Amino acid sequence: MKRVLLAMTLVALALPGPATGARSRQAFDIVPLGVKGGLEEGETTAWYIASAGSRRGVACDAGTLVPGIRAGIRAGAFGRGAKVADVLHDRIGAYLITHAHLDHVAGLVMASPDDTAKPIFALPAVNAALAADYFNGSAWPNMADRGPAPRLNRYTYRDLVPGAPPVPIAGTGLNVSAFPLSHGGTVSTAFLIRSGADAILCMGDTGPDAVERSGALALLWTAVAPLIREGRLRAIIVETSYPDPRPDGQLFGHLTPRWLHSELSRLADVAGSLAGVPIVIGHIKPDLSGSDTVERRVMAQLAEPGGPEAHYIQAQQGQALHF
Ligand SMILES: [Zn+2]
Repeated sequence: MKRVLLAMTLVALALPGPATGARSRQAFDIVPLGVKGGLEEGETTAWYIASAGSRRGVACDAGTLVPGIRAGIRAGAFGRGAKVADVLHDRIGAYLITHAHLDHVAGLVMASPDDTAKPIFALPAVNAALAADYFNGSAWPNMADRGPAPRLNRYTYRDLVPGAPPVPIAGTGLNVSAFPLSHGGTVSTAFLIRSGADAILCMGDTGPDAVERSGALALLWTAVAPLIREGRLRAIIVETSYPDPRPDGQLFGHLTPRWLHSELSRLADVAGSLAGVPIVIGHIKPDLSGSDTVERRVMAQLAEPGGPEAHYIQAQQGQALHF
């Protein structure tokens, strides 16, 4: 066990290496704003993603905003002298919401009265849920531009159509396309975020195709395989909610290390080696012990044989990653 943990630690500490000699400069700056799959309100899922060196990026999910921004500032992830308001108002130029579950949107709702005007990019079903369930004048004032009056129009819903060309995100140098995921009966999303020729995949909650009786991940893997073969997919952000063993009937639309290994094996079958694509793990569901036992079990199981050769990185709130 000790050896497994040591191997896991070494993998986690290893800087993501380029897949090919052509890929030397970094393309993306990531600040995990929240990496947990529930329970801890100030740490639920959100990722700040920007083109490397850019002052403005996006939040892929917004389960936590202000506490995550504070953690990033404390860790120096936003540079010297950064202020919470600057990050919230200026550096987050848009929201990409994978699905409307509370642990992915609570920060957006809570911060909205103090936020600046910006777009929310999501699949139509996800924007419809935000409008119906949160910004509806009942659960919360309608801060957006659809649904019951009065509409405060701070946020502008931007529907993304699967299969459509990538959509530019103003002011960020990024563009985005959306792929539906199956999440236990809820529509979830993988966002393929591009900066020039490079891309990063920010995946929302998802179950394995075999359990979901879905072809969503197979379609996604086929779509991103060419980017991997060309050394242009810089990282995959993906959930692993529960450690193994866990009965398939108790997955609730999520992955375990065994199932992530299985899905990444299918990706490797179409894309070739994943050795140059860091796999960033988030959304591990904590328990009430307050310890990191669950996280350590998940990361140790991912480091065990069973999947393709890959670097698994345990994201830590506020700790910047560069790919
Ligand atoms: Zn969810």
